[in-house]
Amino acid sequence: MRNVIGDPSQPGGGGAVGVPLSDGRPSVFYECQRCAACCRWPGQVRLTGAEVARLAVFKGLAESDFIQRFTRLAGDRRGLALQEKPNGECVLLDGGQCAAQPVKPQQCRDFPNLWNDAGFETICRAIPRPVSDEERRRLVALATGREKIL
Ligand code: SF4
Repeated sequence: MRNVIGDPSQPGGGGAVGVPLSDGRPSVFYECQRCAACCRWPGQVRLTGAEVARLAVFKGLAESDFIQRFTRLAGDRRGLALQEKPNGECVLLDGGQCAAQPVKPQQCRDFPNLWNDAGFETICRAIPRPVSDEERRRLVALATGREKIL
């Protein structure tokens, strides 16, 4: 997934969800349904240098070729972001699916459990599952590939 509601360059940017609640209610894990709606929203997907390298290998391209064909300057001109197609969707969206799923950027992996924005549920088809704090940490770690989940 890519495009962004909130500011994923900030940890938890745009409003964290699935955070343990202090009133005793269960935490929530959002189970992605791979609807790809988030790959079509306006915004940008920032890339780290390591992500560029991984994506280039995955595509079988030299890094310089990958950068040329699939990236652009980020909006603040402080790094690279994935290009968009003329219709606004992510350049890596292919046939309704992410063409780089195994190596997709962390920003994409973190949505919607570690960042999102108000009202995302009206577009995102992820199913909210009430879970224990411990289970939420386990599921979010699996979904995002991150080792430490608060
Ligand atoms: S369910 Fe949500 S996070 Fe998953 S692909 Fe759809 S919009 Fe993106």
